[in-house]
Amino acid sequence: MLAKERAEEVVQLCSSLVKIPSLSGEEQKVANFIKHYAEKIGFDEVKIDELGNVAAIINGSEEGPTVLLDGHIDTVPVQESNWNEHPFSGSVRDGKVFGRGTSDMKGAVSAMLLAASYYASDRNKNFPGKIVVSCSVHEECFEGVATRNVTAQFNPDYVVIGEATNLQLNNGQRGRAEILLETFGKPAHSSNPEAGINAVTKMVTLLSKIQNVEITKHPILGKGILELTDIISSPYPGASVIPSRASVTFDRRLLVNETRESVLEPIQEIINESMKEDPELQAEVSFSSGNESCYTGTIIEAERFFPAWLYDENEPFIQKTFQNLKNVLPETAISHYSFCTNGSHFAGEANIPTVGFGPSLEKLAHIDNEYIEIEQLEKAVIGYISIIDTLANL
Ligand SMILES: [Zn+2]
Repeated sequence: MLAKERAEEVVQLCSSLVKIPSLSGEEQKVANFIKHYAEKIGFDEVKIDELGNVAAIINGSEEGPTVLLDGHIDTVPVQESNWNEHPFSGSVRDGKVFGRGTSDMKGAVSAMLLAASYYASDRNKNFPGKIVVSCSVHEECFEGVATRNVTAQFNPDYVVIGEATNLQLNNGQRGRAEILLETFGKPAHSSNPEAGINAVTKMVTLLSKIQNVEITKHPILGKGILELTDIISSPYPGASVIPSRASVTFDRRLLVNETRESVLEPIQEIINESMKEDPELQAEVSFSSGNESCYTGTIIEAERFFPAWLYDENEPFIQKTFQNLKNVLPETAISHYSFCTNGSHFAGEANIPTVGFGPSLEKLAHIDNEYIEIEQLEKAVIGYISIIDTLANL
Protein backbone atom coordinates (compact mmCIF):
# COMPACT_ATOMS: atom_id res chain seq x y z
CA MET A 1 0.00 0.00 0.00
CA LEU A 2 1.12 3.47 -0.81
CA ALA A 3 1.08 5.94 2.10
CA LYS A 4 -1.96 8.23 2.07
CA GLU A 5 -0.13 11.48 1.34
CA ARG A 6 1.80 9.81 -1.48
CA ALA A 7 -1.43 8.47 -2.98
CA GLU A 8 -2.88 11.97 -2.87
CA GLU A 9 0.23 13.40 -4.43
CA VAL A 10 0.13 11.16 -7.49
CA VAL A 11 -3.59 11.82 -8.06
CA GLN A 12 -3.01 15.55 -7.72
CA LEU A 13 -0.08 15.53 -10.15
CA CYS A 14 -2.02 13.49 -12.73
CA SER A 15 -4.95 15.89 -12.48
CA SER A 16 -2.66 18.93 -12.82
CA LEU A 17 -0.97 17.53 -15.94
CA VAL A 18 -4.33 16.70 -17.55
CA LYS A 19 -5.49 20.29 -17.02
CA ILE A 20 -2.73 21.46 -19.36
CA PRO A 21 -3.64 20.45 -22.94
CA SER A 22 -0.62 19.14 -24.85
CA LEU A 23 -1.28 17.98 -28.39
CA SER A 24 1.76 16.66 -30.25
CA GLY A 25 3.97 19.64 -31.05
CA GLU A 26 2.26 21.78 -28.40
CA GLU A 27 3.78 20.34 -25.21
CA GLN A 28 5.60 23.47 -24.03
CA LYS A 29 3.33 24.37 -21.11
CA VAL A 30 3.18 20.87 -19.71
CA ALA A 31 6.96 20.49 -20.19
CA ASN A 32 7.61 23.66 -18.19
CA PHE A 33 5.20 22.53 -15.48
CA ILE A 34 7.01 19.19 -15.18
CA LYS A 35 10.40 20.90 -15.07
CA HIS A 36 9.41 23.07 -12.10
CA TYR A 37 7.61 20.24 -10.37
CA ALA A 38 10.56 17.83 -10.72
CA GLU A 39 12.96 20.45 -9.36
CA LYS A 40 10.74 20.80 -6.29
CA ILE A 41 10.54 17.06 -5.54
CA GLY A 42 14.26 16.42 -5.33
CA PHE A 43 15.55 15.76 -8.84
CA ASP A 44 19.16 16.90 -9.11
CA GLU A 45 18.82 18.31 -12.58
CA VAL A 46 16.01 18.83 -15.09
CA LYS A 47 16.87 19.48 -18.72
CA ILE A 48 14.76 20.35 -21.73
CA ASP A 49 16.45 19.39 -24.99
CA GLU A 50 16.15 21.06 -28.41
CA LEU A 51 13.13 18.93 -29.31
CA GLY A 52 11.35 19.83 -26.06
CA ASN A 53 11.78 16.49 -24.28
CA VAL A 54 12.08 16.94 -20.50
CA ALA A 55 14.60 14.77 -18.65
CA ALA A 56 14.58 14.74 -14.85
CA ILE A 57 17.71 13.20 -13.30
CA ILE A 58 18.53 11.87 -9.85
CA ASN A 59 22.08 10.69 -9.17
CA GLY A 60 22.71 7.84 -6.76
CA SER A 61 25.69 7.95 -4.40
CA GLU A 62 27.47 4.99 -6.05
CA GLU A 63 28.56 4.11 -9.58
CA GLY A 64 25.99 2.08 -11.46
CA PRO A 65 23.64 1.80 -14.39
CA THR A 66 21.46 4.53 -15.86
CA VAL A 67 17.83 3.48 -15.56
CA LEU A 68 15.58 5.55 -17.80
CA LEU A 69 11.81 5.65 -17.45
CA ASP A 70 10.06 7.09 -20.48
CA GLY A 71 6.56 8.47 -20.86
CA HIS A 72 5.28 10.71 -23.61
CA ILE A 73 3.59 13.97 -22.66
CA ASP A 74 1.72 14.61 -25.90
CA THR A 75 -1.88 13.46 -26.35
CA VAL A 76 -4.22 12.85 -29.26
CA PRO A 77 -6.86 15.55 -29.92
CA VAL A 78 -10.39 15.58 -28.46
CA GLN A 79 -13.78 15.94 -30.02
CA GLU A 80 -15.28 17.92 -27.20
CA SER A 81 -18.95 17.36 -28.14
CA ASN A 82 -18.50 13.63 -27.46
CA TRP A 83 -17.34 14.20 -23.88
CA ASN A 84 -19.65 14.19 -20.85
CA GLU A 85 -17.52 16.85 -19.20
CA HIS A 86 -14.69 19.16 -20.16
CA PRO A 87 -11.88 16.93 -21.55
CA PHE A 88 -9.23 18.87 -19.62
CA SER A 89 -11.10 19.02 -16.31
CA GLY A 90 -8.77 16.58 -14.58
CA SER A 91 -11.68 15.96 -12.22
CA VAL A 92 -11.31 13.37 -9.48
CA ARG A 93 -14.34 11.29 -8.47
CA ASP A 94 -15.59 7.71 -8.14
CA GLY A 95 -12.02 6.45 -7.68
CA LYS A 96 -10.93 7.85 -11.04
CA VAL A 97 -9.22 10.83 -12.63
CA PHE A 98 -10.94 12.00 -15.82
CA GLY A 99 -9.63 13.77 -18.89
CA ARG A 100 -7.56 13.48 -22.08
CA GLY A 101 -4.20 11.92 -21.33
CA THR A 102 -5.09 10.30 -18.00
CA SER A 103 -4.49 6.76 -19.31
CA ASP A 104 -2.32 7.78 -22.29
CA MET A 105 -0.20 8.67 -20.42
CA LYS A 106 0.00 11.51 -17.93
CA GLY A 107 -1.03 9.11 -15.15
CA ALA A 108 2.04 6.99 -15.83
CA VAL A 109 4.29 10.06 -16.11
CA SER A 110 3.04 11.24 -12.70
CA ALA A 111 3.68 7.82 -11.18
CA MET A 112 7.18 7.64 -12.69
CA LEU A 113 8.24 11.08 -11.47
CA LEU A 114 7.00 10.48 -7.94
CA ALA A 115 8.30 6.89 -7.78
CA ALA A 116 11.81 8.07 -8.71
CA SER A 117 11.64 10.85 -6.13
CA TYR A 118 10.36 8.54 -3.33
CA TYR A 119 12.91 5.86 -4.21
CA ALA A 120 15.78 8.34 -3.93
CA SER A 121 14.57 10.17 -0.82
CA ASP A 122 13.73 6.95 1.08
CA ARG A 123 17.39 5.92 0.63
CA ASN A 124 18.99 9.33 1.01
CA LYS A 125 20.17 8.74 -2.55
CA ASN A 126 22.12 5.66 -1.49
CA PHE A 127 21.68 3.63 -4.65
CA PRO A 128 23.88 2.74 -7.63
CA GLY A 129 23.78 4.72 -10.85
CA LYS A 130 21.26 7.30 -11.89
CA ILE A 131 17.56 7.51 -12.61
CA VAL A 132 16.34 9.53 -15.57
CA VAL A 133 12.63 10.19 -16.06
CA SER A 134 12.15 11.11 -19.69
CA CYS A 135 8.95 13.01 -20.48
CA SER A 136 9.08 12.91 -24.24
CA VAL A 137 7.30 14.74 -27.06
CA HIS A 138 5.70 13.69 -30.33
CA GLU A 139 5.00 10.03 -29.63
CA GLU A 140 1.46 9.91 -30.97
CA CYS A 141 2.30 10.08 -34.65
CA PHE A 142 6.05 9.48 -34.60
CA GLU A 143 6.79 6.65 -32.17
CA GLY A 144 10.35 6.73 -30.97
CA VAL A 145 11.68 9.48 -33.24
CA ALA A 146 11.98 12.19 -30.57
CA THR A 147 13.42 9.69 -28.09
CA ARG A 148 16.43 9.08 -30.36
CA ASN A 149 17.65 12.34 -28.86
CA VAL A 150 17.05 11.04 -25.33
CA THR A 151 19.26 8.00 -25.95
CA ALA A 152 21.94 10.20 -27.47
CA GLN A 153 22.03 12.32 -24.29
CA PHE A 154 21.79 9.65 -21.59
CA ASN A 155 22.87 6.37 -23.18
CA PRO A 156 20.68 4.38 -20.73
CA ASP A 157 21.51 0.83 -19.62
CA TYR A 158 17.84 -0.05 -19.06
CA VAL A 159 14.59 1.53 -20.21
CA VAL A 160 11.10 1.30 -18.74
CA ILE A 161 8.25 2.25 -21.10
CA GLY A 162 5.29 3.51 -19.07
CA GLU A 163 2.47 2.97 -21.60
CA ALA A 164 -0.56 1.19 -20.15
CA THR A 165 -0.02 -2.48 -19.34
CA ASN A 166 -2.67 -2.93 -16.65
CA LEU A 167 0.31 -3.29 -14.25
CA GLN A 168 1.69 -6.28 -16.15
CA LEU A 169 5.31 -6.48 -17.21
CA ASN A 170 5.58 -6.25 -20.99
CA ASN A 171 8.55 -7.75 -22.80
CA GLY A 172 7.83 -6.64 -26.36
CA GLN A 173 5.57 -5.22 -29.03
CA ARG A 174 4.94 -5.35 -32.74
CA GLY A 175 6.45 -2.47 -34.68
CA ARG A 176 4.81 -0.40 -37.38
CA ALA A 177 5.63 0.83 -40.85
CA GLU A 178 3.77 2.84 -43.45
CA ILE A 179 4.32 1.53 -46.95
CA LEU A 180 3.75 3.85 -49.89
CA LEU A 181 2.96 2.28 -53.26
CA GLU A 182 2.78 4.57 -56.28
CA THR A 183 1.89 4.03 -59.92
CA PHE A 184 2.63 6.53 -62.66
CA GLY A 185 0.63 6.95 -65.87
CA LYS A 186 0.24 9.42 -68.67
CA PRO A 187 -2.50 12.05 -68.65
CA ALA A 188 -4.95 12.30 -71.57
CA HIS A 189 -8.54 13.37 -72.14
CA SER A 190 -10.80 10.56 -70.93
CA SER A 191 -12.76 10.73 -74.18
CA ASN A 192 -9.60 9.39 -75.78
CA PRO A 193 -8.16 6.96 -73.18
CA GLU A 194 -5.86 5.17 -75.66
CA ALA A 195 -3.69 8.30 -75.69
CA GLY A 196 -2.94 8.00 -71.98
CA ILE A 197 -1.90 5.46 -69.36
CA ASN A 198 -4.32 5.16 -66.46
CA ALA A 199 -2.38 5.05 -63.19
CA VAL A 200 -5.46 3.94 -61.23
CA THR A 201 -6.23 0.86 -63.33
CA LYS A 202 -2.54 -0.08 -63.10
CA MET A 203 -2.80 0.27 -59.35
CA VAL A 204 -5.92 -1.94 -59.22
CA THR A 205 -4.02 -4.72 -61.01
CA LEU A 206 -1.11 -4.46 -58.57
CA LEU A 207 -3.45 -4.43 -55.55
CA SER A 208 -5.19 -7.61 -56.65
CA LYS A 209 -1.79 -9.34 -56.63
CA ILE A 210 -0.66 -7.80 -53.35
CA GLN A 211 -3.76 -9.26 -51.67
CA ASN A 212 -2.11 -12.65 -52.09
CA VAL A 213 1.11 -11.72 -50.30
CA GLU A 214 1.59 -14.13 -47.45
CA ILE A 215 1.31 -12.39 -44.09
CA THR A 216 4.22 -12.99 -41.71
CA LYS A 217 3.43 -14.52 -38.32
CA HIS A 218 5.05 -14.68 -34.91
CA PRO A 219 4.00 -17.12 -32.15
CA ILE A 220 3.79 -14.38 -29.50
CA LEU A 221 3.39 -11.08 -31.34
CA GLY A 222 0.80 -12.33 -33.85
CA LYS A 223 0.41 -11.25 -37.46
CA GLY A 224 2.50 -8.87 -39.54
CA ILE A 225 -0.64 -7.11 -40.77
CA LEU A 226 -0.59 -5.50 -44.24
CA GLU A 227 -3.69 -3.35 -44.48
CA LEU A 228 -4.55 -0.72 -47.06
CA THR A 229 -5.44 2.53 -45.29
CA ASP A 230 -5.79 5.08 -48.10
CA ILE A 231 -5.85 5.48 -51.86
CA ILE A 232 -5.39 8.75 -53.70
CA SER A 233 -5.36 9.54 -57.40
CA SER A 234 -4.29 12.70 -59.10
CA PRO A 235 -5.43 14.97 -60.42
CA TYR A 236 -8.34 14.88 -57.99
CA PRO A 237 -11.16 15.38 -58.77
CA GLY A 238 -10.40 13.87 -62.13
CA ALA A 239 -12.92 15.54 -64.41
CA SER A 240 -12.48 14.09 -67.95
CA VAL A 241 -8.84 13.28 -67.39
CA ILE A 242 -6.91 10.02 -67.25
CA PRO A 243 -5.19 10.00 -63.84
CA SER A 244 -1.43 10.21 -64.10
CA ARG A 245 -0.62 9.11 -60.58
CA ALA A 246 -2.13 6.84 -57.94
CA SER A 247 -0.79 6.18 -54.48
CA VAL A 248 -1.78 3.79 -51.76
CA THR A 249 -0.69 3.60 -48.14
CA PHE A 250 -0.50 0.34 -46.24
CA ASP A 251 -0.28 -0.01 -42.49
CA ARG A 252 2.22 -2.81 -41.89
CA ARG A 253 2.63 -4.22 -38.40
CA LEU A 254 6.17 -5.45 -37.94
CA LEU A 255 7.44 -8.57 -36.20
CA VAL A 256 10.87 -9.09 -34.71
CA ASN A 257 13.68 -9.51 -37.23
CA GLU A 258 11.73 -7.88 -40.05
CA THR A 259 13.93 -5.38 -41.84
CA ARG A 260 13.27 -2.54 -44.26
CA GLU A 261 14.40 -4.80 -47.09
CA SER A 262 12.43 -7.89 -46.07
CA VAL A 263 9.23 -5.88 -45.64
CA LEU A 264 9.37 -4.28 -49.10
CA GLU A 265 10.69 -7.35 -50.93
CA PRO A 266 7.41 -9.21 -51.69
CA ILE A 267 5.82 -6.04 -53.05
CA GLN A 268 8.88 -5.17 -55.09
CA GLU A 269 8.80 -8.69 -56.58
CA ILE A 270 5.17 -8.22 -57.65
CA ILE A 271 6.10 -4.91 -59.26
CA ASN A 272 9.04 -6.50 -61.10
CA GLU A 273 6.96 -9.38 -62.44
CA SER A 274 4.08 -7.11 -63.41
CA MET A 275 6.45 -4.79 -65.27
CA LYS A 276 7.64 -7.74 -67.35
CA GLU A 277 4.03 -8.57 -68.27
CA ASP A 278 3.04 -4.96 -68.86
CA PRO A 279 5.73 -2.69 -70.30
CA GLU A 280 3.51 0.36 -69.67
CA LEU A 281 3.51 -0.20 -65.92
CA GLN A 282 5.58 2.16 -63.83
CA ALA A 283 5.43 1.64 -60.08
CA GLU A 284 7.51 2.29 -56.98
CA VAL A 285 7.31 1.13 -53.41
CA SER A 286 8.91 2.82 -50.39
CA PHE A 287 8.28 3.74 -46.80
CA SER A 288 6.41 6.95 -46.31
CA SER A 289 8.28 9.61 -44.44
CA GLY A 290 7.14 12.60 -42.54
CA ASN A 291 8.26 15.59 -40.58
CA GLU A 292 6.83 17.11 -37.46
CA SER A 293 7.57 20.42 -35.92
CA CYS A 294 8.44 20.54 -32.23
CA TYR A 295 7.28 23.35 -29.97
CA THR A 296 10.89 24.48 -29.77
CA GLY A 297 10.87 25.14 -33.51
CA THR A 298 13.05 22.13 -34.35
CA ILE A 299 11.75 19.93 -37.16
CA ILE A 300 12.10 16.17 -36.78
CA GLU A 301 12.07 14.07 -39.92
CA ALA A 302 11.92 10.32 -40.30
CA GLU A 303 10.87 7.38 -42.37
CA ARG A 304 7.83 5.67 -40.88
CA PHE A 305 9.53 2.42 -39.95
CA PHE A 306 9.37 1.63 -36.24
CA PRO A 307 10.76 -1.85 -35.48
CA ALA A 308 9.35 -4.54 -33.22
CA TRP A 309 11.12 -5.88 -30.14
CA LEU A 310 10.72 -8.87 -27.87
CA TYR A 311 12.82 -10.28 -25.03
CA ASP A 312 12.67 -13.90 -23.97
CA GLU A 313 10.74 -14.34 -20.72
CA ASN A 314 13.78 -16.10 -19.30
CA GLU A 315 16.16 -13.26 -20.07
CA PRO A 316 17.73 -12.56 -16.64
CA PHE A 317 16.78 -8.86 -16.48
CA ILE A 318 13.16 -9.73 -17.33
CA GLN A 319 12.99 -12.56 -14.78
CA LYS A 320 14.59 -10.52 -11.99
CA THR A 321 12.31 -7.57 -12.63
CA PHE A 322 9.27 -9.84 -12.80
CA GLN A 323 10.03 -11.81 -9.62
CA ASN A 324 10.60 -8.64 -7.60
CA LEU A 325 7.53 -6.98 -9.07
CA LYS A 326 5.42 -10.01 -8.11
CA ASN A 327 6.44 -9.53 -4.48
CA VAL A 328 4.74 -6.12 -4.40
CA LEU A 329 2.04 -6.66 -7.03
CA PRO A 330 1.11 -10.37 -6.88
CA GLU A 331 -1.40 -10.02 -9.74
CA THR A 332 1.26 -9.03 -12.30
CA ALA A 333 2.16 -11.26 -15.26
CA ILE A 334 4.43 -11.11 -18.30
CA SER A 335 2.70 -9.81 -21.41
CA HIS A 336 3.34 -7.63 -24.47
CA TYR A 337 1.87 -4.51 -26.10
CA SER A 338 -0.49 -4.80 -29.02
CA PHE A 339 0.33 -1.27 -30.18
CA CYS A 340 3.51 0.58 -31.04
CA THR A 341 5.41 2.58 -28.37
CA ASN A 342 8.67 4.49 -27.93
CA GLY A 343 10.11 1.03 -27.19
CA SER A 344 10.47 0.77 -30.99
CA HIS A 345 13.37 3.12 -30.65
CA PHE A 346 14.88 2.11 -27.28
CA ALA A 347 14.69 -1.67 -27.78
CA GLY A 348 14.05 -2.01 -31.53
CA GLU A 349 16.63 0.48 -32.82
CA ALA A 350 19.05 1.10 -29.96
CA ASN A 351 19.03 -2.46 -28.53
CA ILE A 352 18.72 -1.23 -24.95
CA PRO A 353 17.19 -3.81 -22.58
CA THR A 354 13.63 -2.52 -22.15
CA VAL A 355 10.46 -3.46 -20.29
CA GLY A 356 6.98 -1.99 -20.39
CA PHE A 357 5.03 -1.31 -17.22
CA GLY A 358 2.23 1.15 -16.72
CA PRO A 359 -1.11 1.81 -15.06
CA SER A 360 -4.46 1.39 -16.84
CA LEU A 361 -5.62 -0.49 -19.91
CA GLU A 362 -4.48 -0.13 -23.52
CA LYS A 363 -8.12 0.17 -24.57
CA LEU A 364 -8.61 3.34 -22.49
CA ALA A 365 -6.17 5.24 -24.73
CA HIS A 366 -7.53 7.68 -27.34
CA ILE A 367 -11.18 7.27 -26.28
CA ASP A 368 -13.83 9.88 -25.40
CA ASN A 369 -14.29 10.30 -21.64
CA GLU A 370 -10.81 8.86 -21.01
CA TYR A 371 -10.05 8.14 -17.36
CA ILE A 372 -7.62 6.30 -15.11
CA GLU A 373 -8.40 4.39 -11.93
CA ILE A 374 -6.71 5.81 -8.86
CA GLU A 375 -5.92 2.30 -7.62
CA GLN A 376 -3.92 1.71 -10.82
CA LEU A 377 -2.01 4.96 -10.32
CA GLU A 378 -1.08 4.05 -6.75
CA LYS A 379 0.00 0.55 -7.70
CA ALA A 380 2.03 1.95 -10.58
CA VAL A 381 4.09 4.02 -8.11
CA ILE A 382 4.76 0.87 -6.08
CA GLY A 383 5.64 -1.04 -9.26
CA TYR A 384 8.02 1.62 -10.59
CA ILE A 385 9.86 1.73 -7.26
CA SER A 386 10.36 -2.04 -7.44
CA ILE A 387 11.50 -1.92 -11.08
CA ILE A 388 13.94 0.95 -10.45
CA ASP A 389 15.39 -0.92 -7.48
CA THR A 390 15.82 -4.13 -9.48
CA LEU A 391 17.42 -2.54 -12.51
CA ALA A 392 19.68 -0.20 -10.52
CA ASN A 393 21.08 -3.20 -8.66
CA LEU A 394 21.52 -5.62 -11.57
ZN1 LIG B 1 0.66 6.52 -25.47
